[in-house]
Amino acid sequence: MKDTIHLLREKGFKVTPQRRAVIEALLECGKFPTAQQILEYVRKIHPEIGVDTVYRNLNLLADIGAIQQINVRGRDGNVFELTQGHHHHFICLGCGHTQCLDYCPVREKDLEQTATAYEFDIVSHSLEFYGFCQNCRVNRV
Ligand SMILES: [Zn+2]
Ligand SMILES: [Zn+2]
Ligand SMILES: [Zn+2]
Repeated sequence: MKDTIHLLREKGFKVTPQRRAVIEALLECGKFPTAQQILEYVRKIHPEIGVDTVYRNLNLLADIGAIQQINVRGRDGNVFELTQGHHHHFICLGCGHTQCLDYCPVREKDLEQTATAYEFDIVSHSLEFYGFCQNCRVNRV
């Protein structure tokens, strides 16, 4: 919570009660909550906060790198993770189990030539790996 608030301030954003509520929800909803779960949590405590506000703040937190938005297929939409650093995930297509990887296999440096050719300025990237966890592999055969 402190880190996230610190990051917001560092990037020049005010820590409004709405933003605080969204961060609180991310902490309280357990690992990998959906936008819907975050919304429900926030509105239980702050019924006056609108849907748009919650989504806007989730996007803002993702933009500044305070949270990761993870595309888990087969579940209702993306899930979110409050994070200390940029990383990627193994996501099970069977049960939705999400495993954090502790490093980034993408070297943006390698993409620089292509990016330059398209006059594209890379700011961030997201990459998830889909497959089957140990449990689901056993059940598949
Ligand atoms: Zn699985
Ligand atoms: Zn993660
Ligand atoms: Zn990466």
